Amino acid sequence: MQDPSAYIKQHIRTVPDWPVAGVQFRDITPLLSNPRVFRVLIDQFVHRYFDTRPAAIAGLDARGFIIGSVLAYELNVGFIPIRKKGKLPFTTVEETYELEYGSATVEMHTDAVQPGDRVVLIDDLIATGGTMLAGARLLQRLGATVIEGAAIVDLPELGGSARLRAAGLPLHTLVDFA
Ligand code: AMP
Repeated sequence: MQDPSAYIKQHIRTVPDWPVAGVQFRDITPLLSNPRVFRVLIDQFVHRYFDTRPAAIAGLDARGFIIGSVLAYELNVGFIPIRKKGKLPFTTVEETYELEYGSATVEMHTDAVQPGDRVVLIDDLIATGGTMLAGARLLQRLGATVIEGAAIVDLPELGGSARLRAAGLPLHTLVDFA
């Protein structure tokens, strides 16, 4: 069997100039629709975190929900959604972060973790790192420890992974696009 990361990378579609001119959108839907490669993808994360025994997997809205919930199910741990503002019904904590134009806010329920919980935080892709850093801050503010941030794709030229590591967050990604 070929290298799993190369196999996964082959099934990520690049859509130029979407959603705006100049962005190379890395589309993971071909990964999800192919059951063989979807299983290889999830197994990469299952093997990495099986012995770690996190208390929960936290997933970032929205593609982090897809891989994060399957991973949580496989590890037999809970799943925590970190959502874009205005979607969660109970009491929340929120973090706002800067985008190229404007800002974004993510929220998490205040009872989603207990102090001392060890959590893996997952998304599909790291670009500037702002989304993952905001998610990590939410978890840390409620007293959880973020064991590691995980993503399928890193875009190292955008500096997000370096920024996250500099902020003290260990990271694990499977595929780079230069
Ligand atoms: P950032 O906060 O800049 O690291 O952006 C990461 C978030 O935006 C993730 O939730 C990604 O799904 C999405 N994203 C940013 N850039 C891209 C891209 N080029 N292709 C696909 N998704 C992207």
